[in-house]
Amino acid sequence: MPDLTTLSRPEPIATAEKPALVGLSREELAEALVAIGVPAAQTRMRIAQLWHWIYVRGATDFGAMTSMSKALRADLDRHYTVGRPEIVSEQVSEDGTRKWLFRFPSRGAGRPVEVETVYIPEEGRGTLCLSSQVGCTLACTFCHTGTQKLVRNLTAGEIVGQVMMARDRLGDYPGLTATDGAAVPETGRLVSNIVMMGMGEPLYNFDNVKQALLIASDGEGIGLSRRRITLSTSGVVPMIPRTGEETGVMLAISLHAVRDDLRDELVPLNRKYPLAQLLEACRTYPGISNARRITFEYVMLKGVNDSLAEARDLVRLLKGMPAKINLIPFNPWPGTAYECSDWDQIERFADVVNRAGYASPIRTPRGRDILAACGQLKSESERLKIRERMALEAMIAG
Ligand code: SF4
Repeated sequence: MPDLTTLSRPEPIATAEKPALVGLSREELAEALVAIGVPAAQTRMRIAQLWHWIYVRGATDFGAMTSMSKALRADLDRHYTVGRPEIVSEQVSEDGTRKWLFRFPSRGAGRPVEVETVYIPEEGRGTLCLSSQVGCTLACTFCHTGTQKLVRNLTAGEIVGQVMMARDRLGDYPGLTATDGAAVPETGRLVSNIVMMGMGEPLYNFDNVKQALLIASDGEGIGLSRRRITLSTSGVVPMIPRTGEETGVMLAISLHAVRDDLRDELVPLNRKYPLAQLLEACRTYPGISNARRITFEYVMLKGVNDSLAEARDLVRLLKGMPAKINLIPFNPWPGTAYECSDWDQIERFADVVNRAGYASPIRTPRGRDILAACGQLKSESERLKIRERMALEAMIAG
């Protein structure tokens, strides 16, 4: 059984009186420093210090930042915070996958919001799946998150805050160890990869996502290579070139169908940006090459999109494009009408794609027992009823 630990932290990430410094750009940090009386000539040095303490050392209070004077630390503490989101719950799957429910304070008149973040440890790497919005507007029919209406966009600080909190819990800072024997890769960094594949459509929150990813890949801070950061979109075509130009991260497309009529149903955004437009944007994605292939995600739905004719059409559609295809066995959730394709059929589908020269790994479902698998995220503000959960467990048990 999954281990459900309920934790609480006394300090929220930020309040109206004390904004967070986590997630600010260097320019915004400079403004924040000048606003509390730091001389403009000193801001560059102070920003470098703050950046190091926040992103390299993982400091959660200004008191620890001993390279700055006590007076400055006290001043910073009076006006700002480097706190973290509140953890509402942390669940650990039988396979070591972790799912956190984080709560962020209200913005303006709204209520506090909750989002889910998932950590998937594998041999040689640890992948963090981040949310970009609370809920989603796009209502893809196979996706549980799509049943939760959009509450609001997350700020850059809230997106980076998910990374910081996960690293805290995993002990991914110099001198720290995992809090509770967390399953982590044996070598390399504990959070070595980031995917924007959690709740929400990242390209509908482009500015905040961009700022968060630039912070995650900043060489003086978290320092993740842009090749280890993947942004997944359901196909917001006009924003795809900007994603490549302005963030330089890897692109993944939530494809799931090879015909417009079916994709219109599975990914309704297709009615606005049909397959031909989407694939053209992929072919011309800045930086695309054999070393920087585009990932196409394809959820395997029994009797819906899993025929071998569709596998062949998929190959035709992607012809000539540096691409890899992730086949995702459908992860059920309460109320869905879809079923996962039979395993044999998934393998036959993969064979067709493989023989055409495309890597087509079948993604082993991770964290299904804690509803952490692809397409299953939905924040606990719409908590499952016990009856629904029992129905789901029965469905997973087969
Ligand atoms: S698949 Fe992504 S874009 Fe579609 S409903 Fe789910 S979270 Fe939104």
